[in-house]
Amino acid sequence: MPGRRAGPAPPGPGESADAGRACWESRRGYGWRGVGTGDEWPAREGDAQSRARWAEQGEGNGSRRAETSYNWGEGNDMSQATTYSGATTPGAEAGRARPLTELSEEELLFQKTVSRFARERIGPHVRAMDEAGVFRKELLKEMFELGLMGIEIPEEMGGQGGSFFQAVLAVEALAAVDPSAAVIVDVQNTIANNVILRWGNQEQKRRYLPRLAADTVASFALSEAGAGSDAFALTTRARREGGEYRITGRKMWITNAAEAGIYLLFANAAPEQGYRGITCFVVERGFAGFQVGKKEDKLGIRASSTCELILDDCRVPEENVLGEVGKGYKIAIETLNEGRIAIGAQMAGLAQGALDHAIAYARERKQFGKPIAEYQGVQFELAQMATEVEAARLLVYNGARMRDAGLPFVTEAAMAKYFASQAAENVASKAVEIFGGVGFTRDYPVEKLYRDAKIGRIYEGTSNMQKLTIAKQILAKP
Ligand SMILES: Cc1cc2nc3c(=O)[nH]c(=O)nc-3n(C[C@H](O)[C@H](O)[C@H](O)COP(=O)(O)OP(=O)(O)OC[C@H]3O[C@@H](n4cnc5c(N)ncnc54)[C@H](O)[C@@H]3O)c2cc1C
Repeated sequence: MPGRRAGPAPPGPGESADAGRACWESRRGYGWRGVGTGDEWPAREGDAQSRARWAEQGEGNGSRRAETSYNWGEGNDMSQATTYSGATTPGAEAGRARPLTELSEEELLFQKTVSRFARERIGPHVRAMDEAGVFRKELLKEMFELGLMGIEIPEEMGGQGGSFFQAVLAVEALAAVDPSAAVIVDVQNTIANNVILRWGNQEQKRRYLPRLAADTVASFALSEAGAGSDAFALTTRARREGGEYRITGRKMWITNAAEAGIYLLFANAAPEQGYRGITCFVVERGFAGFQVGKKEDKLGIRASSTCELILDDCRVPEENVLGEVGKGYKIAIETLNEGRIAIGAQMAGLAQGALDHAIAYARERKQFGKPIAEYQGVQFELAQMATEVEAARLLVYNGARMRDAGLPFVTEAAMAKYFASQAAENVASKAVEIFGGVGFTRDYPVEKLYRDAKIGRIYEGTSNMQKLTIAKQILAKP
């Protein structure tokens, strides 16, 4: 709508004021070292019983219908997945050419640990959480204990001192089992923690990062009913009064909002300056005038909460302005440029999960006297699916490595999200078909992955917005 805003034209999607920012601090060890090498995941009381109980009730075990022993818990070991490209060779000599998917020893251990956590701890609950539309509190607690909610937060603040790439590995590995778990970790690490690490002052880091690493979930609240793709059309207003701001407005579609204690919330503090008035505030759940509103009943990622936020003259101390007043647009653009690499990872992981299920099922399901995997028609589908998964992963890993290396990555990030979300939809759809009739039921996990895949083309910028970014960048080249 031309002429709606005052002030200069806002930057377009994918723009960055300083895209080539310096590499982040060097990383240290992980809390999960020595935990998840594959065999020694600590058993917890009640595990065996609870799993058995779900099995008895028929939850997650649909084998009765298709006469195979296949069930929800199979497949999905992301550390096995990377072997498609002959990668995961730790200890590579310096200087030799390396495959993009090659992981360092630390990254490989981390990936295996997260994959195992996803399979063994989250896997048994995926179906019930999807049906209830709620993520189990104890799993959230375990994700904090494992360090998955503070991957890049420095160790001295209780985090893991890891890299953005490791956050991407975690999101991918979780998504292969449950894309809802993946988006919880995604928003916490690649969006919320990322914003405070990069834009917070020392006092804000000291106050919030230890909580975010230990036990507090965060949300990123930009969208509104009238401001989605055109996010800077937001109408939430912040008015300065004494030593605080009074914020009034409504936010929509806010991931993690039901569980969160901290909200990175965007409001316009100087509407006469157009998008240059947009400011990012740290709003705590207990602040007067703040309320979490309606929770959405969604098609997919149902265990991840998506809610409205209501701010009615909400009182926010001025020290809770993140970055500078009027710099919210920059924080939002640059954070989402990074975050969409991780959404690409969520979609690549989801696609890998669907492919793993399809391969396992095709090997077991017999028709006309032999496994359907022996028919070339099925083999060709699996081959195409595997190629799409691999291509998505390569785009995602490349974007994440570029970001960690301090190289400009905006085009690559948009390509990764655009392509991976398309691949996820295609692969999950084919997986449903390979399962035949049972693939269309809730007894098998591919039906859920198919529903979950749809969100990849919508949030953190729709596919059209990614294409706008890519086109803008390639057309700007001489
Ligand atoms: C499950 C879920 C979780 C979410 N989590 C968060 C969150 O945590 N925080 C947050 O701030 N937001 C969140 N969102 C909001 C999300 O980012 C927006 O829904 C998304 O950006 C699209 O905005 P919209 O829904 O208003 O669609 P619209 O912007 O109205 O788009 C509708 C259609 O029009 C197309 N379109 C719009 N403009 C153009 C254009 N210029 N050129 C071509 N096509 C165009 C779009 O591609 C789309 O197909 C979430 C949304 C969902 C569904």
